[in-house]
Amino acid sequence: MRYQLAASLLEETFTHFRRCGAGVRECQALWVGPWAHPHLITEVVHPRHSASAAGFQLDDAWLSDFWTRLAKEEVGIRVQCHTHPGAAYHSAVDDAFPVITTPGFLSLVIPRFGLGPVGFERAFLAQIDEAGHWDEVAIAEFLEIV
Ligand SMILES: [Zn+2]
Repeated sequence: MRYQLAASLLEETFTHFRRCGAGVRECQALWVGPWAHPHLITEVVHPRHSASAAGFQLDDAWLSDFWTRLAKEEVGIRVQCHTHPGAAYHSAVDDAFPVITTPGFLSLVIPRFGLGPVGFERAFLAQIDEAGHWDEVAIAEFLEIV
């Protein structure tokens, strides 16, 4: 599946990263789309979370409400995105605690707390397989800015 998202949604993602992370903390954004159009990403959601330079943790109550909202609105999380202080890669913690473990789910990591140019330069995309392992995949194969 190659997801399509508007450039404005990518801008919005970086805005969350910069405002919330302030260049000193990690941040996460979730890319959401309707089940009726599974290749479309239509919304960026900034979850309630705590964070430090070394990681972030979602608020359980928020997440629980969010699952309810997703079901009611017939939308799903397509991609989880988060920042790293330095280089973008999938850390052991990233491997262990994805928001979703469905095979094919994507995890995008943005370097330098999102302070660099808006785009996929030096970003890292991983996909979870049937066995629960994450593999790096080519961003252009799975994400298209439209
Ligand atoms: Zn944040």
